[in-house]
Amino acid sequence: MGRWGERLAYACKTFILHRELPYLFGMVITDRCNLNCFYCESKNSGSYHFTSDGAIQALSDAYQRGHRSLYFTGGEPMIWSDGGINLGDLVRHSRKLGFHDVFIFTNGTVPLAIRDCNYIVTVDGTRDIHESIRKGTYDLILENVRNAVTPDVFASITFSRHNAHCLEEFVKEITALNLFRGISFNLLTHWPEMVAKHGISGSERVRLLDRIWALKQQGYPIVLSRAAYRSLRSNEWKRPIPQIELGTRDKVFTCCRDVDNKEICENCGYANCVEISQILALRPSAIFQVMKMVN
Ligand code: SF4
Repeated sequence: MGRWGERLAYACKTFILHRELPYLFGMVITDRCNLNCFYCESKNSGSYHFTSDGAIQALSDAYQRGHRSLYFTGGEPMIWSDGGINLGDLVRHSRKLGFHDVFIFTNGTVPLAIRDCNYIVTVDGTRDIHESIRKGTYDLILENVRNAVTPDVFASITFSRHNAHCLEEFVKEITALNLFRGISFNLLTHWPEMVAKHGISGSERVRLLDRIWALKQQGYPIVLSRAAYRSLRSNEWKRPIPQIELGTRDKVFTCCRDVDNKEICENCGYANCVEISQILALRPSAIFQVMKMVN
């Protein structure tokens, strides 16, 4: 049937038959990480390191359940290996299985040498701000992006109180580098007390989103559709998203690990999830946005 044939069949089942079928599978391949970012809770807890057999089985099971888009996350997925198998082997295996799109969420400190995938590289602000959160990595990341084996590399930032003020400077700095295909973002999504201390909420959140949208309107390569911008701003969108699953070594979650934490979910700031919710709501701007992303 081929990639586009499968996508069309999935669209018909989803939009005509209104079936909620799996499509995007996320894999927390390891929680091991070579960095120590203050806002990250999923680093080096020792709870999430897949064995190679477990990873291969989880990929096959996800494909059998109907998933066709895949992302690896962590910890730092690029440092994962087990039994002589590394992440590159898993990407090749997932392609052989038939996954259409493969993304790797990485901190960019390891060379981007795995082919046949897209990279989402975290850059947490302008050079100084990034260095204040991820010390000693800014130049290394840019070097790895410059030498990446694919042009499909996106920058990703998590907005918090520590970097929201540098938004415009950050977007202009990253765009001027001409290294990234686009800029995606999240709003810090965490326990209410963490968001109260480090996050952006209420009218501040609305103002930040308006600033992001203004940059998008000026032509900066921000991955954000009008539908997702409006939904993030009003915080009105359908969640959790049953078409998304997140697999860890011991469990598969619907949408993400916080699916049962209502307080977190109510203020979800994962822009990619909002985009998917708008695609599923058949919003033309979100459908157009994703068509630009997939190969
Ligand atoms: S916080 Fe809720 S809506 Fe957001 S990704 Fe997690 S489960 Fe989905």
